Formats: sequence, C-alpha cells, structure tokens
Amino acid sequence: MARIIDGKKISAAVRAEIAERAEKLKEESGVTPGLAVILVGDDPASKVYVRNKGRACAETGLYSVTVELPAETTEEALLAKIRELCEDEKIHGILVQLPLPPHIREQAVLDAIPPEKDVDAFHPENVGHVMIGDYRLLPCTPAGVMKMLEIENIPVAGKECVVIGRSNIVGKPMAMLLLHANGTVTVCHSRTKNLAEVTRRADILVSAVGKAGFVTADMVKEGAVVIDVGMNRNAEGKLCGDVDFGPVSEKAEAITPVPGGVGVMTITMLLENTVRAAEAFVRAGRT
Ligand code: NAP
Repeated sequence: MARIIDGKKISAAVRAEIAERAEKLKEESGVTPGLAVILVGDDPASKVYVRNKGRACAETGLYSVTVELPAETTEEALLAKIRELCEDEKIHGILVQLPLPPHIREQAVLDAIPPEKDVDAFHPENVGHVMIGDYRLLPCTPAGVMKMLEIENIPVAGKECVVIGRSNIVGKPMAMLLLHANGTVTVCHSRTKNLAEVTRRADILVSAVGKAGFVTADMVKEGAVVIDVGMNRNAEGKLCGDVDFGPVSEKAEAITPVPGGVGVMTITMLLENTVRAAEAFVRAGRT
C-alpha cells in the first residue's frame, strides 16, 4: 500500500516558513507582501479558488485584495485595472484568475502583468526563465509538486519521469522543473501512442490531464511515485483527480490524494511567490 503524500501537512510546514519570511520583511522594511487577485465573471469554481487564495493570504500575514469584475468587462477595462495595480506599491503580486470570458484575449492579459509582479509566472519572460533554469518566480503547481518531492525525500536525479499533459500552466513547466532536477523526462499528450507502455516506465509519474479515473493501475509501474495534478468531478459530483486512487495505491510506493494533495500546494506556492516578489521589491530599494 502506497505512502500518502499529505499536501495539507507539507503545506502547513511550508506556510509557517512563508509567514516567518513575511513577518521578517515587515519588521525590517515595513513592507507587507501584497497580492491582488482579479476575477472576471462569476464562474463558481473560480470564485471558490479566489476565496481560498484570500483566506490563505490572511492566515499567512499577507495583505490581499480581490477585484471582482463583471463577465462583460472589456479587455481594455481589464488591462486598465492591471495597469492601476502595477502602480500600487502595496501590491507585489498580481494574478488574473483563468479562464477569462471568451471575448478577452488571455495572452494579452498575461503579457500585461509585469514580470516582477507575475506571481503565476505565466508572462513569457518568466516562462523563459523557467526554460533556462534561472528561476525568478516559479509556476505554482509545478513548483508545488517539486516542493512535495523535496520534502518527502524523493530524489529526481536519474529517475524516469513521465508527465501526462503538455499545457503551458502545468505539463510543460512541470517537465522543465523535473529536467532541471536531472530527471529523464518524457512528456505525453493526446497524440501519444501506446501511452500505458510509456507511463509504465515511470519512476515518477505526474498526471495533468483533467479526466477522472484516467490513470489506471495497469499504467503504473510497481513502486512508482504517482503525483495527481488533476482536479475533476466524478459521477457523484465529488472532487477527484486523474488517478484511479484505490488500485493505483496498491502498486505505487507513494501517491498524492485529491483533495489534500497538489491543489493545496499550488496556493502555498502562490503565497511563496508573493513573498518572493515583495522581497525583490525591497531589495530593489522601492520602499
Ligand atoms: P489542459 O490545458 O486541458 O491540458 C490537458 C492535457 O492533457 C493536454 O496536454 C492534453 O493533450 C492531455 N490529454 C488529454 N487527453 C489525453 C489522453 N487521452 N491521453 C494523453 N493526454 C491527454 O489542462 P491543464 O490546465 O494542464 O490541467 C490539467 C488538470 O490539472 C485539470 O484537471 C486541472 O483542473 C488540473 N489543475 C490542477 C491544479 C492544481 O492546483 N492541482 C492546477 C492547475 C490545473 P493535448 O495537448 O494533445 O490536447
């Protein structure tokens, strides 16, 4: 039976360190790390994520504001709001909750967030830093996975790592971080042939597909580490990952649950990025 990698427990420890860093910065410079989250529209899942982010900031001693805009907000109005937050000295991190309504160009919005306040690390400049391995702000979900592996003492160097999914948000940066940690990385997607043959080679298997029950036990090597990034609803409407948890945990050495795994770490890394951005702001002498 697999060891459960407990995202909540790891998060609590990491958040305690983040709170200490935030407190130290406040004492030394008078600056409280501040995060602005912009939500356009009233998607219920996005509302929950945004609320959780605000709560996590408050619990860690960070300042946060939530900007809620109606679904019919124009792209120009959203860009104007971002420009306003860029000028706000109390705000060190800006995040626009995705997805955006279809009339707003996502890339135009992501490009408008200055790299130093881009706590999601989706700006092309930050994407480039991730590619080079010269990290500034790290994309939260892949960074959360790496933190879990580190804290659980799961070495990556020399390991066969298979990532299912190639999105800009999860799959691609996940592959990059594993590669920089000296894993031998394979990225799979919907056109991959003989997927199970590839995934069965994995010492570390990361699934970021978005389909409940997608990773079945026959796709997993005995003794593998299985990281489930998926956030789906099963037939009963309950939150679940991509991995068929019961049978896979019989074979895996370690596994992340959903909920209580990667999701909570994503928010933790967002807090970390906000503190990091505020520390850089102070270092640049902008207080
Ligand atoms: P996405 O943009 O929809 O990407 C899904 C990826 O899965 C694509 O690359 C797609 O391949 C691949 N895929 C789909 N069907 C496949 C199949 N049959 N075989 C192999 N690959 C297949 O999704 P995302 O934004 O990366 O998110 C993935 C999941 O992670 C979702 O459930 C999302 O909710 C969750 N998520 C969780 C967190 C967290 O904090 N835990 C954060 C972000 C996302 P193609 O590229 O070929 O289409």
